[in-house]
Amino acid sequence: MKPEMPSSLASQRLTSVRRRIRDAARQAGRDPEAIRLLAVSKTKPMADIQSLAEAGQQDFGENYLQEALDKMEGLAETEPPLCWHFIGPIQSNKTRPIATHFDWVHSVDRFKIARRLSEQRPDHLPPLALCLQVNISEESQKAGVAPDQAAELADAVAELPKVQLRGLMCLPAPEEEERAQRQPFRKLAALMADLNAGGHSLDTLSMGMSADLEAAVLEGSTLIRVGTALFGSRD
Ligand SMILES: *Cc1c(COP(=O)(O)O)cnc(C)c1O
Repeated sequence: MKPEMPSSLASQRLTSVRRRIRDAARQAGRDPEAIRLLAVSKTKPMADIQSLAEAGQQDFGENYLQEALDKMEGLAETEPPLCWHFIGPIQSNKTRPIATHFDWVHSVDRFKIARRLSEQRPDHLPPLALCLQVNISEESQKAGVAPDQAAELADAVAELPKVQLRGLMCLPAPEEEERAQRQPFRKLAALMADLNAGGHSLDTLSMGMSADLEAAVLEGSTLIRVGTALFGSRD
């Protein structure tokens, strides 16, 4: 087993990722405070999440339901409480625990899933924050609603009572060059602007990861999902 991440390393990595976000925001003439950092903790042990939480990180993202539920239970007493985001593929028979235990879901790409999340969101909780995952580069075999069907899905999801449509998410194919990385992010930002011009009030662009967060910030990302740069590489 790999040794756990010591607290000093957790704070170093957090500082370094925050600096990257700040530098890119500065280059874009944006306020770095307007960019939320989501730490993607899939496959990483609870102790590593705890180290990052102690260093001041509050938002954590998970891809696999059972793994996430186990970690949430173990970390339930953390103060201040952690904010949990589901970012993985969603099977319709798994919506109830997602609706019950998470604060955000970034990977909604069809109405049936959104409707079930709304129906199953417990009454005592605030509406579940949602992003629609968009297959922005229109790759075959890739999750996400097609860009030209996003408006119809957004209109339908916005009517649901126990979810709040907050924005759009994308996971583009990896590119080396910043210029190429920026293209899909620019398209996603334009799509959100179109939806807002059509009457929505979306405020979240969930885009950018360890390798392309600068490109995402330059194109207007408000929420960066970072795994490797905070937790080290995954096996
Ligand atoms: C794993 C994952 C990330 C983080 O990726 P890194 O390259 O490790 O930063 C972000 N978003 C989603 C949807 C992921 O599955």
